[in-house]
Amino acid sequence: MTVRPLVAGNWKMNGTKESYEEFAKIAAGYDAALAEKIDMLVCPPAVLLAQFAEVENLPVGAQNCHAAASGAHTGDISAEMVANVGGKYVIVGHSERREGYGETDADVAAKAEAAWRAGLVAIVCIGESLEQREAGETIAVVTEQITKSLPDATTSANTVVAYEPIWAIGTGKTPTADDVAEVHAALRKSLVERFGEDGEKIRLLYGGSVKPTNASELLALPNVNGALVGGASLKAADFLGIAEAYK
Ligand code: PEP
Repeated sequence: MTVRPLVAGNWKMNGTKESYEEFAKIAAGYDAALAEKIDMLVCPPAVLLAQFAEVENLPVGAQNCHAAASGAHTGDISAEMVANVGGKYVIVGHSERREGYGETDADVAAKAEAAWRAGLVAIVCIGESLEQREAGETIAVVTEQITKSLPDATTSANTVVAYEPIWAIGTGKTPTADDVAEVHAALRKSLVERFGEDGEKIRLLYGGSVKPTNASELLALPNVNGALVGGASLKAADFLGIAEAYK
């Protein structure tokens, strides 16, 4: 089954309105040849979404959303607000949200449903800690996370899953190719068992210290349908260098 890859950038809490210049460079590099092969996406800080969404050829998304559509939730943004300014995706359940804000699998599933309600694609993140990996619990942990974080109405059109080992995020460390392949195979099995044939088509991204130098190896692995990229998505040359792995 061929699944169209997605290379997504998560800018985290980085960037100003002047970063539009870098974003525009990414959009320019996402040329017809690349667009024929892969989807690309940048998730900037929410305050930049409306400005960046003006660029038509490169979709944008948010890094988080509240489960409610509106209301008394000081400091939060809803999926509807993201859609209203032109966002197409929203990342939910990033480990920095799970760890920093105590988000549970149930919270993540509610946010995924909120994303769909607003017409957005949810990028649902899962991944094990270093302690869990060292204890040999990785497959059990990510299988439980994917089961509990994905609502029953998940489809290949409304959801992308990102496997991001917490210990690989922003550290320069990555699992071995065999380890990534093993986790992605287990995730695929779980998706197919639950969602049938459509589970074959749900995009499974790898995230955690992806760079131009390791992208070719990681993105060629079975059941790896793209990447979620943090630090290396901030510079057009690096982010496009990762996407080049598909050229
Ligand atoms: C991320 O935060 O989603 C991520 C993968 O970060 P980095 O690429 O910097 O490890």
